[in-house]
Amino acid sequence: MKILVINCGSSSLKFQLYNMDNNEVLAKGLVERIGIEGSNLQYSPKGMDKIVIETPLPNHDEAIKLVMDKLVDPECGVISDLSEINGVGHRVVHGSKYFTESCVVTEDVMEKLNKCVDLAPLHNPANIMGIKACEKLMPGVKNVVVFDTAFHQTMPAKAYMYALPYEYYEKYDIRKYGFHGTSHRYVSKQAIEMLGNPEHSKIITCHLGNGSSIAAVKDGKVIDTTMGFTPLAGFEMGTRCGDIDPAIVPYIMKKENLTPDEVDNIMNKKSGLLGVTGKSSDFRDAEAAMNEGDERAKLALDMFRYQIAKFIGSYVVALGGCDAIVFTAGIGENNGGHRAAICEYLSFLGLEVDAEKNKLRGSNIEFSTANSKVKAFIIPTDEELMIAQDTMELLK
Ligand code: ADP
Repeated sequence: MKILVINCGSSSLKFQLYNMDNNEVLAKGLVERIGIEGSNLQYSPKGMDKIVIETPLPNHDEAIKLVMDKLVDPECGVISDLSEINGVGHRVVHGSKYFTESCVVTEDVMEKLNKCVDLAPLHNPANIMGIKACEKLMPGVKNVVVFDTAFHQTMPAKAYMYALPYEYYEKYDIRKYGFHGTSHRYVSKQAIEMLGNPEHSKIITCHLGNGSSIAAVKDGKVIDTTMGFTPLAGFEMGTRCGDIDPAIVPYIMKKENLTPDEVDNIMNKKSGLLGVTGKSSDFRDAEAAMNEGDERAKLALDMFRYQIAKFIGSYVVALGGCDAIVFTAGIGENNGGHRAAICEYLSFLGLEVDAEKNKLRGSNIEFSTANSKVKAFIIPTDEELMIAQDTMELLK
């Protein structure tokens, strides 16, 4: 069985074509700058060199069409006909109350997906564009949606409720949903295996990328997570502010004469690392600036590490202990400096980092010392494989 996995962002699209008989990736790639000058496809077929194609791609339809052309191309293709693709799995950010697990796309599902748009305005519209493009270009092939919110549905009410008037929960479903669920699901499963598949486990998974979140996973089930009603909650991210005193919002709105949409845009796109440094949303840029003596870059990175350590501490309480802390995603997998600094805050738990192992990357690594009371793991996330597996299960 062959499954195509698609992860659409507003101006980007990541894809992987799997042969599910052996979980092999036949081709993968990335389309960047969709609808913006300089659009390009980076296409990596198995066993061949990466191909970069620069061509105008005004929308997601054109981007997916180009990907499909390459998949069946006589020279660089990996299948002879699109009919070899049995199903397409789409990453969808917000499933709201409508989706507690992955499902096959139907008209009813599309209607509900549209209802979720205002809850994740940065992400869900792009996911919907991707599904529509696939329906148009591959008629008859089933599409499956896999939600970032689904894995967090096991949270107890005391974790997901906000102390607002209860009627807002009843009327508008205002509660914590949590995101990056597919990543937290994947890495927590891997961590349980690395612990030797114990019957009981207490794991804290830190997904640190452009968007970041932490989850407390007890016996394989989420009991709490940092993101909330939207992916804006939690701690400092590339451009998102994370948790702030909610009273700041109306205060700034009055002072700066901002509409709700304007203040929302500032909190989602102009805050976080970008807001504090005033320079970049990229953590590598901030680190380079800090190393050159930029005080605000240092402050922004200190805040990032401190906020993460505090959440981990609170989840040790929520779990009643901790067997392992997992670091994953762009920053979590690649930056030993942040990992070491975060673990340093947690040394009172008996967590000890092996400095040499902390320099490694690229595979599942236990980077705590043999004596450490809490294990620390680097686990490269694989959301695409999880999506492909869910898609395969639903098509069976
Ligand atoms: P997303 O999937 O949320 O777009 P990623 O998980 O790919 O994001 O992470 C992207 C982030 O990871 C960027 O901010 C990038 O700067 C950061 N990153 C990647 N490598 C490193 C590194 N070696 N040190 C610090 N940050 C890194």
